[in-house]
Amino acid sequence: MRRKLVCGNWKMNGNLVSNAALLAGIKAGLEPSNCEVAVCVPAVYIPQCQSTLTGSTLGWGAQDISAHTAGAYTGEMSVSMLRDFSCKYVILGHSERRAYHGESDALVALKMQRVLQFGLTPIVCVGESLAERESEQTKAVVSAQMEILLAAIDAADLAKVVIAYEPVWAIGTGKTATPEMAQGVHAIVRAKLAHKNGELAQAVRILYGGSMKPDNARELLAMPDIDGGLVGGAALNSADFLAIVHSA
Ligand code: PEP
Repeated sequence: MRRKLVCGNWKMNGNLVSNAALLAGIKAGLEPSNCEVAVCVPAVYIPQCQSTLTGSTLGWGAQDISAHTAGAYTGEMSVSMLRDFSCKYVILGHSERRAYHGESDALVALKMQRVLQFGLTPIVCVGESLAERESEQTKAVVSAQMEILLAAIDAADLAKVVIAYEPVWAIGTGKTATPEMAQGVHAIVRAKLAHKNGELAQAVRILYGGSMKPDNARELLAMPDIDGGLVGGAALNSADFLAIVHSA
């Protein structure tokens, strides 16, 4: 059985004081469970996570990483640097990075290889835009994104990857895919994974992301191929985030 994962994506939000309150609130409300819980925070606050969360069951990570290992790449950060701060997760290919930083599927695939090389867990985002959904291209778009990722990964590493299905039109908009819509795409993702390795595909966590909130989480997380959530806005409020964790 797949262990559910709920991961907060703080995006570019927070400060030392608000983070301390948010992390304390989450820590205080986390109950022992089989659900894995993590927060991916702005890079400068990773040391704050390390000092606050070490010894707790709440994991932490980054929202992006360089595809390079080291060298003359001003402004970049390597996976080995994240490892120095005990990060476990890296979100890759978020639609905001694809849209505002021109990240291609090929670059996301390269970053995924780098994250695996250093033993962290990549949470790789895929998903269609509103125009693509409306022109019934969802299956083609997500399948193409998956094929590029899968071409870059050894079959043996498949279960080390987490995929996040995030319909772009649902991110930060308050619009959520219905559980059936999301399940349909998650099943497409799982089928793609199964082409690589049928057995390991069953072990891969596929998260849903896109306006997941306390009031819709339970239904989404009840679907057979939805193995957790990548949570933006609701991850900035400890009560909301914990409610989603409890649903999972
Ligand atoms: C996200 O940014 O990954 C996300 C899912 O955001 P939100 O929950 O705010 O839609």
